[in-house]
Amino acid sequence: MRTQLTAAEAQQLILDAAVPLPPETCAAADAQGRVLAEPVVSRRTLPPFDVSAMDGYAVRSADLARAAAATPVALSVAFEIAAGGAPDRALAPGEVARIFTGAPIPPGSDAVVRQEDVWREAERARFEAPAPLAANVRPIGEDVRAGETVLDAGVRLGPAALGMLASLGRSHVTVHQRPRVAILSGGDELIEPDGDPTGGRIVSSNSYSIAAQCREVGAEPIYLGIARDRPEELERFVRAGLGADVLVTSAGVSVGDRDYVRPVLEKLGCEIVFWGVMIRPGFPLVFGRFGSHGPLDSAARGPLVFGLPGNPVSAMVTFEEFVRPVLRKLAGHPAWFRPRVEAVLGTRLRKTVGRLHLVRVRLERRDGQVVATSTGNQSSGVLRSMALAQGLLVFPADATELREGTLVQVQVLDEDFLAAADAGF
Ligand code: AMP
Ligand code: MG
Repeated sequence: MRTQLTAAEAQQLILDAAVPLPPETCAAADAQGRVLAEPVVSRRTLPPFDVSAMDGYAVRSADLARAAAATPVALSVAFEIAAGGAPDRALAPGEVARIFTGAPIPPGSDAVVRQEDVWREAERARFEAPAPLAANVRPIGEDVRAGETVLDAGVRLGPAALGMLASLGRSHVTVHQRPRVAILSGGDELIEPDGDPTGGRIVSSNSYSIAAQCREVGAEPIYLGIARDRPEELERFVRAGLGADVLVTSAGVSVGDRDYVRPVLEKLGCEIVFWGVMIRPGFPLVFGRFGSHGPLDSAARGPLVFGLPGNPVSAMVTFEEFVRPVLRKLAGHPAWFRPRVEAVLGTRLRKTVGRLHLVRVRLERRDGQVVATSTGNQSSGVLRSMALAQGLLVFPADATELREGTLVQVQVLDEDFLAAADAGF
């Protein structure tokens, strides 16, 4: 087992131990947020024919070449094509057809004149201007041609992609399985939110923050509950989580007498890859895996295991830095890390050399720049300063001071700081 790893070393070991989960078929209606495991190749051409983009008249543009206000051209309205209808014959020279938006233009026609520019007199239509070739016509295949790749593997399915799938006639898609994350809290002091908070008991907030972090990244949390500080009980809970893709425990990973997470995992055959990462908050992180021979693959015998520190902010920050990227990799995303912004530091920060600090900051747009300011007390037990944070500022391990006004890297936790008061038009 290794210890005192840098954050980058720890992240590398974790990501190397994971491969994307296998594909499964999913109803397109349930596929929002899922990641395509294979490209979507269209079997259809869209639109499937030249379509009118306006309510008006399908014409042969040559018939209107000399039309002008002084020399109007009157042509006979031969038939009508509604949206959803199909022309039953071609347009002959000297003829036009009444047509509606979305209807296929008839053979022989090559333009549509919108109805506002046409004077209708019984069975004839009068035109006072030429119709440019292809005017108001959406050509066949403008959107998609049969055989084209429309969406690549690795694409996260959002509203437009789901609309696209529907228009291609796809009721099912092949996506990566969603990572299932078993979550377990450990400690005699822990209660559920509706429990009695007297006598030194505290609410197991980690159960809720971690489950929410899982959902936010598209993983499925499976909450196992609170294990008391007894090895047999912890073992029973851990066993219940062995069927998941990832097992996340919190607390009990330090060097206290009642820190049973590591021994219990080892007893069950988990290889502890490392303990202790040079970051703050979150030093006592444990990473382990089952099936220790060769890289993990889909036939691995057990989950990747994260023993997160118990302090509420340490648990959340280590999840952010080490669990979230691996969940994205398992889910099939091509990029695994939070977006980062370069921000101007609004408050001076100091620390000693040795550990990377991830500082909870508020982000604000000011005069075309992003300004980062500390959200307050950075103790690993102060969940409130995490709740106020829109980002985690990267304060490198070897640095001791960041002056006000310097440019810093911030991992963006909440993009809402970019939300605008108007639409920009
Ligand atoms: P431990 O690792 O067990 O020493 O826990 C470190 C600190 O985190 C202690 O103050 C615990 O009470 C606290 N803690 C442990 N588990 C949780 C949890 N699930 N929710 C909130 N706080 C916790
Ligand atoms: Mg404890």
